[in-house]
Amino acid sequence: MDKPIQDIVSCMGNPVAGNPSQFMMERAFVACNLDWRYLTLQVPAGNLGDAMAGFRAMSFRGGNFTIPHKVAVIEYLDDLSDAARLMGAVNCVNVVDGKLIGENTDGKGFVQSLREVIDPAEAKIVILGAGGAARAIAVELGLAGAASITIVNRTESRGQELLTVLQQIVNCRADLVTLDDDFEIDEDVQVVINATSIGLGDAEAKVPLDVETLLPSMVVADVVFNPPQTRLLRDAKQRGCQTLDGLAMLVNQAVIGFKIWTEVDPDPNVMREALEEYLEL
Ligand code: NDP
Repeated sequence: MDKPIQDIVSCMGNPVAGNPSQFMMERAFVACNLDWRYLTLQVPAGNLGDAMAGFRAMSFRGGNFTIPHKVAVIEYLDDLSDAARLMGAVNCVNVVDGKLIGENTDGKGFVQSLREVIDPAEAKIVILGAGGAARAIAVELGLAGAASITIVNRTESRGQELLTVLQQIVNCRADLVTLDDDFEIDEDVQVVINATSIGLGDAEAKVPLDVETLLPSMVVADVVFNPPQTRLLRDAKQRGCQTLDGLAMLVNQAVIGFKIWTEVDPDPNVMREALEEYLEL
């Protein structure tokens, strides 16, 4: 082995989600002159306990966790950040003095990219979806002082869980719409976010939204990053909206994770270029 083992971070979970991250992180390590490695490790759900014992035994410096481990990993950690505790999900683990601390950078990454186009404080926001990505984004937007958040989800029970977190723990004005048809957006909404997996791997997939109700005053964001120009974003652009693609969120959550592990600020442009190269955009 030609390098010290303590400078390894890993991505455990679905390797399809991990590979672009590996490409992006390793480019950023090189650009920052850091001799670190980012490993992508496929860990089946039943093997997470063993994998975490290995994580500790091999003194990994940190890691990302993707589906299906974002919630399950919590029982193997020593502590959680406030945001990760509120979300009940971890996508990033940092090792501090031998202790494994769970963080959640997904929502922070999204809010950072949103701030480049609009201040989320006092904004009226609609989020499609109530899964892991929606939960991370909604909690961070609530913490950032959003005026109100409407969750639109297909499955009521999942939507209700997120609504309870927003109303009772984040103390944010929020409501839930259980979807049975295309959702119509009120004129005074400022931010519309697709946080469902609709559009992943299918540039023509349609989210359950009446695009005729999108107005030029709205910012429309999509968490789906492959392909990044989703049908929703293309429709929104055509209707004069400002748009934000899922690559921006993916880059920003990686920038935050990189800084947490290395205490070095990476160049987001290097990371975005690496992602675009990997995805052949
Ligand atoms: P989850 O499986 O936790 O949640 C999926 C959500 O999509 C649920 O709300 C689900 O509704 C909804 N959904 C899925 N299919 C449909 C459908 N046909 N009609 C209506 N609703 C649907 O996934 P995640 O939240 O973890 O991930 C969602 C997306 O976010 C993925 O594409 C992922 O790649 C992306 N992502 C992007 C990141 C980035 O950095 N850009 C970071 C993290 C995730 P229901 O509750 O009814 O099942």
